[in-house]
Amino acid sequence: MKILVTGGTGFLGSNLCKYLIKHGADVICLDNNYTGRLKNVEELLNNPHFTFVEHDVINPIDFSTPLDQIYNLACPASPVHYQGKAAVKTTKTCVLGILNMLDLATKHNASILQTSTSEVYGEPLVHPQVETYRGNVNPIGIRACYDEGKRCAESLCFDYYREYGTQIKVVRIFNTYGPHMREDDGRVISSFIVQALQGKDITVYGDGSQTRSFCYVDDLIEGLVRMMNTPADLTGPVNLGNPQEFSMNELAGLVLSKIQTKSKLVYQPLPKDDPSRRRPDISLARQQLKWSPTIPLSEGLDKTIGYFKKQLAM
Ligand code: NAD
Ligand code: UDP
Repeated sequence: MKILVTGGTGFLGSNLCKYLIKHGADVICLDNNYTGRLKNVEELLNNPHFTFVEHDVINPIDFSTPLDQIYNLACPASPVHYQGKAAVKTTKTCVLGILNMLDLATKHNASILQTSTSEVYGEPLVHPQVETYRGNVNPIGIRACYDEGKRCAESLCFDYYREYGTQIKVVRIFNTYGPHMREDDGRVISSFIVQALQGKDITVYGDGSQTRSFCYVDDLIEGLVRMMNTPADLTGPVNLGNPQEFSMNELAGLVLSKIQTKSKLVYQPLPKDDPSRRRPDISLARQQLKWSPTIPLSEGLDKTIGYFKKQLAM
């Protein structure tokens, strides 16, 4: 089985490459290393079943060997890396990236899995979020490059499915964390852990009452692979995430309870359009994929703290 993973040196991509290689696949890992790092796939670089290709998904590409599956993960996922000076590029990555990968999948008759996001729900007016909810996104806000880019990517997947019969799989991932996140990733779990380990202030945005539901990476990867390997008529979208919901204050408290530190909480302004609540309804994933997360936040945090301790000691 020949599998292309775009965004393969990133957080989720590198964990996915490791999983696929372990389960006997030949993997092509494609990335422009914007937020990804070769260090994340270091242990695979000399493996004959693994190839790294440096490439930007906004440009077309083809491979001489037939592809069976494509996982499209290429896109920065942390607000600090997709907004600001990166915003226009983010939209291009989402839209041109999936277009190029859909063309490739169609040509190779390969299944393609698009990693969409809970961000398609925006500031949700329905809680928990179910796949039939159409969302409440600000189309002109600072998160729109990502949110609308991912929404457009979903619409392209379904147009290729209807027009060309391309075998698509769309998953909407809710906040996922774990080893291979960058120390400067900017997302909340990596930020709180690194701040606590370094004895720096823990930066809680807003009053810390906003919620997220955090999935440990191993659970998520299992969900991606299950979805990819479903029959052709299951296109999604399917939510993947851990339905246990926590406020950022609760998260900060939990991190502080696990790390001996002089760090204190400091409250900073809430970024614009920061969603106030997030929690997936995963009934569809439970039914269709027989999937649900197995690793609670406390256990996943222990593993992630262990990872960052090692990284910071290097
Ligand atoms: P990440 O930033 O660690 O990884 C993204 C990878 O894509 C990086 O390796 C980066 O270098 C690469 N990339 C970015 N732009 C590219 C381009 N133009 N061409 C080629 N490569 C490019 O983020 P992640 O958390 O691993 O997210 C992976 C995917 O999953 C993303 O598409 C993201 O939107 C989606 N997702 C992640 C989460 C989450 O909580 N981790 C939630 C929802 C959706
Ligand atoms: N957040 C925070 N401190 C940080 C980073 C993030 O309080 O140092 C908050 C952020 O405002 C948001 C939540 O944590 O409400 C999750 O942020 P993240 O960037 O991890 O993911 P997203 O907002 O994309 O869900």
